[in-house]
Amino acid sequence: MNILVINSGSSSIKYQLFDMSDERTLAEGVVEKIGEQTGALTHEAYGSGEKAEIVEERAFRDHHEGLVRIGELLGGPETAALGGAADIAAVGHRVVHGGETFQDPTIIDDRVMEVIRENIPLAPLHNPPNLLGIEVAMAIFPGATQVAVFDTAFHQTLPMAAFLYALPFELYEKHRVRRYGFHGTSHAYVCERASAYLKRPLDGLRLITLHLGNGASMAAVKNGKCIDTTMGMTPLGGLVMGTRSGDVDPALPFFLADHLNMSLGDIDRLLNRESGLKGICGSNDMRDVIDMAEAGNERAAIALDVYIYRIRKFIGAYAAALEGLDALIFTAGVGENAPYIRRRCCEGLAHLGIAPDRARNAGNKPGISEISAGDSRVKVLVVPTDEELRIAQETERVIRK
Ligand code: ADP
Repeated sequence: MNILVINSGSSSIKYQLFDMSDERTLAEGVVEKIGEQTGALTHEAYGSGEKAEIVEERAFRDHHEGLVRIGELLGGPETAALGGAADIAAVGHRVVHGGETFQDPTIIDDRVMEVIRENIPLAPLHNPPNLLGIEVAMAIFPGATQVAVFDTAFHQTLPMAAFLYALPFELYEKHRVRRYGFHGTSHAYVCERASAYLKRPLDGLRLITLHLGNGASMAAVKNGKCIDTTMGMTPLGGLVMGTRSGDVDPALPFFLADHLNMSLGDIDRLLNRESGLKGICGSNDMRDVIDMAEAGNERAAIALDVYIYRIRKFIGAYAAALEGLDALIFTAGVGENAPYIRRRCCEGLAHLGIAPDRARNAGNKPGISEISAGDSRVKVLVVPTDEELRIAQETERVIRK
């Protein structure tokens, strides 16, 4: 069975085609700068050991034009010769906000479309392009079952104590203001991988997952159920990120408006795009920040201190929420590739049973690696995430049901 995964953003469409018999990637690519004068498409098709790459620099007027071209390439000789894309049984769509309605991936019908639309106020930047991707995919792949996989779904098990903000209760009842959490697909995937690696069922495991990419979030997972997560109603809350502030005093916007005359739009931009690592030291790329700090740049060193301190604080908080800890799991760009960050996040936490091994941590092997010392009570793991594969697996599971 071939499954196509689509991640449709405001100006780009990422896609990956899987042969689910062995979870092999047949083709993948991205259309970028949709709607701009100069766009680009990169398409790669894989065979056993061979790869065909197509790069097109041209404008893509809209999502429809982009997806039509993707459809042509997937059905074209480059892909077909290497495994065949002809029968796409299903398309799995990444949908950012499923609100409180969706705890699981769902076959898309009119009602599901309507609910994704109703959730636009909760994710104004993400849900509209997600919807557009679904509409276009329905037209271009009419024979395929369309499935929505939600970023928020994994966190729907949060207890009210963890998801409710201390605001007038009507805001929750009438407007669904609450913590939702994001990166759910990734948190769920690395938990399952860790459980398989540790040869222990999820039931009985207390896990903290650290998804540290450009966006970053942590989750506390008990018996396979998420019980808390750092992002909130939107993906702005929680950890320090590449360009996002994470948690700040909720009164900060009043100060910015009153004393610096900033508009709501200015404040939004400041917190989402000009803060985080970039706000403190000028770069949101962790590689640069670490290099700068090593070269003696004081701001970069401060940015790292703030970034790491926030993570450590949540490790402590989640160890308390979970009433103990069995494993700590690092994933995503920074989590998988930055031993320095992992080391500093774990240092001095022996009282929680966390004992990293310097040499194991320093290496960066592909696949899952265990970076805790042999006698560490808490296993510390690096588990590469694969959100596309997880969306494909979930899509297959739904359509087989
Ligand atoms: P996204 O949230 O965009 O999916 P990724 O998970 O790809 O992000 O993570 C991007 C981040 O990972 C960037 O900040 C990048 O600097 C960081 N990163 C990638 N490789 C390394 C590395 N070798 N060392 C430190 N940071 C890295």
